[in-house]
Amino acid sequence: MSASDPSCIFCKIVEGKIPSRKVYEDDEMLAFHDINPWAPVHFLMVPKEHIASMAQVEDRHQALLGRMMALAPRLALQEGCRPYPQGGFRIVTNTGAEGGQEVQHLHVHVMGGPRPWAKG
Ligand code: 5GP
Ligand code: ZN
Repeated sequence: MSASDPSCIFCKIVEGKIPSRKVYEDDEMLAFHDINPWAPVHFLMVPKEHIASMAQVEDRHQALLGRMMALAPRLALQEGCRPYPQGGFRIVTNTGAEGGQEVQHLHVHVMGGPRPWAKG
């Protein structure tokens, strides 16, 4: 079992202690809809391991982050983003206070769908 932080809301979502609308799950990662979407499609991809932010990423995480980036376009289409180039999506990872990060468990926002968006 991966390292978990008992006070972290995304660890609780990973463990099923807080419900979420799941988009994808495997041994190493989970994707679920953002509770407060900025765009018609807005989901988060998280490693199951508690990594506080991109600032704590280590060499051993390379394959996991690579898989996450490679999977994001497939999940974006599955969740309703239109194909590139007319459609597309935005991928964002806020990091640290000045990077606008509110939840201290590494997550990738994937946003898309017809504009205007609520934010971004
Ligand atoms: P950050 O600002 O850290 O990049 O983004 C955190 C995101 O997590 C926000 O977009 C927020 O709406 C989302 N979020 C916070 N708490 C929960 C929750 O309990 N469930 C879900 N599904 N999303 C959450
Ligand atoms: Zn966590």
